[in-house]
Amino acid sequence: MGKESRRECQPCTGCCDGWVQMVIGGVPVYPGSPCPHSTGSGCDDYENRPQDPCGNFNCGWILPDSPLPEWMKPSSARVIVILNQLIWNGRPVDLAVPMGRRIPPRALDWLKRFSERQLRPLMYTEQILDGGRFSREQQVFGYGPPEFQQDLLRWQREGKRLW
Ligand code: SF4
Ligand code: SF4
Repeated sequence: MGKESRRECQPCTGCCDGWVQMVIGGVPVYPGSPCPHSTGSGCDDYENRPQDPCGNFNCGWILPDSPLPEWMKPSSARVIVILNQLIWNGRPVDLAVPMGRRIPPRALDWLKRFSERQLRPLMYTEQILDGGRFSREQQVFGYGPPEFQQDLLRWQREGKRLW
């Protein structure tokens, strides 16, 4: 969860609740399986949270110089944006994952316009359901130059780890 920002995480617990899959103190968190310390509006052991990943993780909204508008707070916009996830042909690529099944249309539209204006290719995901429950798999989409989208498809075929 972010720090040294004029913005505050609470009551967002998006990254604690497994929407960005992580291992917290040896416990894997993933959609439908949040960190045991998440209260849904904060952390019940914040003073003792591990530095990695909790202390180190900053979503794009919480960063001190975030380009994301106020309304894109993950708990409201239902999307977690990770800026500069990778570099493609010298350009920074951003990643957006939904807090829920899909990124809501208003937020996805904003992200696509931002991608166009800033010439930053975008990867975004949709949760895959299995028997009506979230699986640990996500479908990945690309937005940006056709060559980027082709490379993204190729990376997925090759099993390249994208985050
Ligand atoms: S997703 Fe962002 S705003 Fe929400 S708890 Fe994590 S770092 Fe904070
Ligand atoms: S330990 Fe606390 S800050 Fe870290 S993921 Fe769990 S609830 Fe979030």
